[in-house]
Amino acid sequence: MLSRKFSPWHLVPFSWKYVRLRWQRRPVLVNFEVTMRCNAKCGFCDYWKTSPELKAQELDSFVDAAKAFDPMMITWTGGEPLLRKDLESLVGAVDRAIRTKYTALLTHGAMLTIERARALWDAGIGQFNISLDYPDERHDVARGIPGLARRILANAAAIRAEGMTVRFNTVIKDDNLDDIFPLVLEAERMGVGMNLSVYTDFKNGDTSHLLRAEHQARVEELVRELLAFKRRRRGIISNSDHYLASIPRYLRGEMTEPCLSGQDTVHIDPYGGIRRCPDFPADGHWSEYAGYAPIKCDRCFYACRGEAQAPLRPNRFLDLVASA
Ligand code: SF4
Ligand code: SF4
Repeated sequence: MLSRKFSPWHLVPFSWKYVRLRWQRRPVLVNFEVTMRCNAKCGFCDYWKTSPELKAQELDSFVDAAKAFDPMMITWTGGEPLLRKDLESLVGAVDRAIRTKYTALLTHGAMLTIERARALWDAGIGQFNISLDYPDERHDVARGIPGLARRILANAAAIRAEGMTVRFNTVIKDDNLDDIFPLVLEAERMGVGMNLSVYTDFKNGDTSHLLRAEHQARVEELVRELLAFKRRRRGIISNSDHYLASIPRYLRGEMTEPCLSGQDTVHIDPYGGIRRCPDFPADGHWSEYAGYAPIKCDRCFYACRGEAQAPLRPNRFLDLVASA
């Protein structure tokens, strides 16, 4: 489900920009992490323990970084980015500073009212990515926010009804394997997209939701269901076929490809630090970026890592066209 801000003819300037960035070996996607603060309480992430005092050190503009990288895709993320009251102005300034970019906002969704969504959409956001791992109260418990799943489903429907683009970001865990496919069907019914990633314990060592050997057969069955769904209905699941098909291989520990983080994607933290991915420490200020070599790391198989490894096959083009 691509942003309704774009038409098929936009593929031309986007393709040009993609080729240029690849040629120059510059990142295609830049994540702007506007804060590490968060008002959720996820067990698998320690960001919510960030000291409120660090707020004073957060960047008040990402324009210079946006101009320097001039990426094709921007993700505004956190922490919880909606905690920044100046988020609309941060987004708007970057939107005016560079052309030909696809801009998404990643949020836990608790504060994404229709009014805030409209203001952010008008400022430049082209897609709202809302985390949703379970369709019910289990999501509230996992995030530490009562009523969250109900609020997300209601607000996503309302935002979608206003003509804005919504995608659910769903993490495949040990205890939601039977919920994933029903969530895909619910996304299809609501007219929103869905992006899947695999749970990792790299953020804070919480192994409680890891997919283990005993889940392998169920994961493989789920992947078959998802790929079959994509064959008959493209445009809902945004993951490439390659990413989905690679999940069982990743879980078996057979992935040999290096991770391209820092090369295709790069992360700028709230204090101006540059990271090859959100879960690695900063390597200096973003202005010192000199590229990252591929790294032998298998600590995660998030979609951003997996999609960077996916070859450009015709089915990816079919996904793009079906999403438009
Ligand atoms: S995973 Fe996201 S929502 Fe949960 S504590 Fe971390 S930043 Fe907040
Ligand atoms: S596999 Fe890549 S994206 Fe994942 S933690 Fe390692 S370096 Fe980061």
